[in-house]
Amino acid sequence: MKLKPHWQILIALISATLLALAARYLARDAAADSGKMIFIHALVRTAGYIGNLFMLALKMIIVPLVASSIIAGIASLHGVKGFGRLLGKTMALYMITGVIAIFIGLSLVNIIRPGLQNGKPNEAIAAAFHHQASQAAAPPKVLNSDALEGGFIRQMAVFFERMIPENIFTAAADNGNLLALIFFCILFGVAMTALPHDRVRPLTDVFNATNDAMIVLTNWIMVLTPIGVFGLILPVVYESGGGLFIQLGKYFVTVLLALSLHLFLVMPVITGWLSGRNGWSHLKHMREALFTAFSTASSSATLPVTMRCTEENAGVSKKVSGFTLPLGATVNMNGTALYECVAVIFVAQVMGMHLGFGQQLIIVLSALLTSVGVAGIPSASMVAILIILKNSAIPNAEVAIAALLSVDRLLDMSRTAVNIYGDSCVALIVDCQENEREQCLAAV
Ligand code: ASP
Repeated sequence: MKLKPHWQILIALISATLLALAARYLARDAAADSGKMIFIHALVRTAGYIGNLFMLALKMIIVPLVASSIIAGIASLHGVKGFGRLLGKTMALYMITGVIAIFIGLSLVNIIRPGLQNGKPNEAIAAAFHHQASQAAAPPKVLNSDALEGGFIRQMAVFFERMIPENIFTAAADNGNLLALIFFCILFGVAMTALPHDRVRPLTDVFNATNDAMIVLTNWIMVLTPIGVFGLILPVVYESGGGLFIQLGKYFVTVLLALSLHLFLVMPVITGWLSGRNGWSHLKHMREALFTAFSTASSSATLPVTMRCTEENAGVSKKVSGFTLPLGATVNMNGTALYECVAVIFVAQVMGMHLGFGQQLIIVLSALLTSVGVAGIPSASMVAILIILKNSAIPNAEVAIAALLSVDRLLDMSRTAVNIYGDSCVALIVDCQENEREQCLAAV
């Protein structure tokens, strides 16, 4: 009997975790040059190498998959009007679900108050932050970004600059800049609908066929997912830092609880209500994509799998998934928005800064807007969090970020799963509502 793909992935995840924990245990008192250590390092490095090959294979198909699915999807919409309606509905749902996610995070961080101890700033955490930050040899790479300069308005200006590509091929070659590629493909698809049907037919056929071939390629890569997941998880668990994890226990619980509430309760209920389908069955349909997002911590790298699950398991039409999912992987990040809000308020608590209602509201808005500009790659939201911390004049922002970054992986994996699930829910809702609308129109 052949195990179903999600079971295979789950087994890979658990066995990689157990093996990494065993390796950590064995490495505890082994001398650096002992045979045992050499074996452990070889194991971890080989696993990391395999994981990286899997990530590269996923990234390899992103550009042709995104381009062909958006263009083919929009070209099939027959006209700017149909596309405008779908885009409007999609963006509205992205915003609404983002706001709901942020309010879940905001409520829990204010109830649990992970940065306080007996109502006062937790000094042990502040000291641990300073210690961890001083251990880092160099400032984390993710923080060396031009985007950090200037305030919030400058951030938005940078976003629009990134959206319009100077050269479409450079944009396609730049892994972090999916936004520019999407923008161009949407315009190209809309332009195709402005031409007579016969004139664009050959082009539509080319993009449809390319898209079909990319789906076949995705299916091939998916066969390797359990091995890829094993390779990605083993080094992460082996290398994860110990001490700070324990001190940040309450913070981890707050974030994971908020993400779980959104993922397992709120989104299934909203999805069920607006699509007429069972929201929890949809969660099941998305299992493989959720595991892949969890293992890669990258919405962009997971995109091929998200599209496959949404289309093949949940039955969403290519017309809708073709542009909602690539767009969602870049602009709709429920988990990230929630996390940004919790992280900023947590750091404020630790640093002894009281935030009033007005200030928290500004943080909510900033979390929503900056999450749109965060790229779908590991730890990308750290830059956004640093910007919000600085704009809110919260002291020691860099120190806190350097420390949070060192324990980010587990939280990143979890919020990425929430991010891609949010995208797939919106695709399902829009598709179901569109189908209903078409049936109504047909019946008139
Ligand atoms: N890793 C996240 C994603 O790819 C982004 C983040 O929150 O850092 O969706």
